[in-house]
Amino acid sequence: MSFSSLGLSEKVLSAVESAGYTEPTEIQARAIPFALQRRDVLGIAQTGTGKTASFTLPMITMLEKGRARARMPRTLILEPTRELAAQVEENFQRYGVNHKLNVALLIGGVSFADQDRKLEKGADVLIATPGRLLDHFERGKLLLQGVEILVIDEADRMLDMGFIPDIERICKLIPFTRQTLFFSATMPNEIQRLVDTFLHNPERVEI
Ligand code: AMP
Repeated sequence: MSFSSLGLSEKVLSAVESAGYTEPTEIQARAIPFALQRRDVLGIAQTGTGKTASFTLPMITMLEKGRARARMPRTLILEPTRELAAQVEENFQRYGVNHKLNVALLIGGVSFADQDRKLEKGADVLIATPGRLLDHFERGKLLLQGVEILVIDEADRMLDMGFIPDIERICKLIPFTRQTLFFSATMPNEIQRLVDTFLHNPERVEI
């Protein structure tokens, strides 16, 4: 299996090559083609399996097509912790080296000012923890009607941290026509219920 058979763009393939990856991991090989077909994906995989690239690489490929309406973000990634959100941002820097992507990291513990500035400039990609995302929304600083791809990462950790009500609220603020890529290491009942409510006929990829 090679990266070039997955349907990723030339610019993304060149960034993958620069990262030194020679072949896709199992979650990448199985999830990326579905993501590029604009299917919803339920990925059951642990950290360390390469799952971050399994959503960032197709997202960057898809961002090459179309453009943002009225500076509204086109993609939103939800992470349970600031550290994970920051790691995903690093992935966007690495895999997006051949693109001019505006990425906004919306996490707690830092002032709103820098984040507000990024949003005002227009961000293609939002990477956020649920509480801070809702803070921005309630302050009237954020429009979510333009989100085409939603990623919910580490859903079981979101559950442990009490974030499920926030996730449900956020899902309802984003157009129903979006694509959702959903990742969890385990599938307790509450997570399955979330999947049944908010994903449309997902492809299940369990590794
Ligand atoms: P993740 O599970 O997304 O946290 O990724 C775990 C680690 O694997 C990260 O350090 C990635 O840079 C690395 N990685 C991801 N995909 C590949 C790949 N196809 N080949 C080699 N390393 C990879």
